Amino acid sequence: MQDAKKADTDAATSSVPFALERKEVERWVADVVAGTRLERDQAEALTGQLTDPAIREALCDGARAIKRSLTGDRVTVSRNIFIPLTNLCRNRCAYCTFAKLPDSADAHTFSIEEVEEVVRGGVATGCVEVLMCLGDKPEVAYGSYRKMLEERGLSSTTDLLVDACRVAIETGMLPHTNAGILTKEEMERLRPFNASMGLMLETTSRRLRAKGGPHFHAPDKEPATRIKMHEEAGELKIPFTSGMLLGIGENDSERLDTLWVIADLAHRYGHIQETIIQPFHPKPGTKMHALSPLDDDRVVGWVALARLVLPREVHVQAPPNLGRGMLARLLEAGVDDWGGVSPVTVDFINPEAPWPALRQLRDDTSAAGFELFERGPVYPDWILERPDYFDPQVRALLPKYANDEGYAQRHNQSEEAA
Ligand code: SF4
Repeated sequence: MQDAKKADTDAATSSVPFALERKEVERWVADVVAGTRLERDQAEALTGQLTDPAIREALCDGARAIKRSLTGDRVTVSRNIFIPLTNLCRNRCAYCTFAKLPDSADAHTFSIEEVEEVVRGGVATGCVEVLMCLGDKPEVAYGSYRKMLEERGLSSTTDLLVDACRVAIETGMLPHTNAGILTKEEMERLRPFNASMGLMLETTSRRLRAKGGPHFHAPDKEPATRIKMHEEAGELKIPFTSGMLLGIGENDSERLDTLWVIADLAHRYGHIQETIIQPFHPKPGTKMHALSPLDDDRVVGWVALARLVLPREVHVQAPPNLGRGMLARLLEAGVDDWGGVSPVTVDFINPEAPWPALRQLRDDTSAAGFELFERGPVYPDWILERPDYFDPQVRALLPKYANDEGYAQRHNQSEEAA
């Protein structure tokens, strides 16, 4: 499977109909910087030439100009904790090491007491955001999980999430939930207990759901289902995080389509606060362990293209633990946010990739000519300019966690050494 996927990707990547001249690309980019939307056929032509240093540099120059026009030298990070509320999942994506089967020794669903304990650790180290990240609908697949919920007096994972988010707020942090596919009603229930929510679109490629593909055993990775949830989150006015996975077997055209769909959702609903451009890292023990990740040049090129394609209210994020050795290049490509970085918990999705220490991240950001600022689960411009995007209960909490400029206001400074 891996070889076939690699071949698909390479074939699409190399099918450049004609070679673009740098001057022409500079003209397109200048128009985008001035406020014109990049045309789809222009973007299609660019995707085939991201490995050309001159073309990539022109894209990065434009993307960085847009970033600077929005947030100047400032780059944000959210000092957070990550609670994998349950690592059971009804899907089996071919690249995942997060999801466990119920009989695995590593299978775990947090008790509310455990949630409270981890949140206390976050509060003690100056964290503002608690990321609730968990498997998709395990109650659909596993009787033992349904029984456990029943014993706790709960009927669904959403019940568990509501309890966990409520306790997190009471203990002193602001939740951001990424629980996979949720119905509109479920998101409505969670909105009063979440500052923001998210779902990586990952890819719009239906091809990857075919037999042998990475999403064959993952019904919740059906692109239409994920787009529908984005739309419903938009209808509910939830500050929303989306994202694109780079290198799971999709080709350039599919990558561009994913970006285009996220941009379209952001234009239609105005609720996409950030888009994560996340390079896939193959993991030992998975079916896709031998797949080559996308090379750094292409990752940088796709970050720049994302900044040029996405509306300006959408922040562009790259996880620093997945971009080791290339942070300066990511900043040059228009990244304005590093996402959540925890002094307390590991990245349970990519446990092989430790977070950088915040002090190191600050130094690296500064060495590239930018300045690191801490935010909470929502961006400063969203806090200051979009009060209608928050449930009244959350809106009332924001002044406690955000300063006058919307950046994180920490109540415990003891973590400065992180
Ligand atoms: S949906 Fe997420 S947690 Fe579940 S198997 Fe896929 S990647 Fe893993």
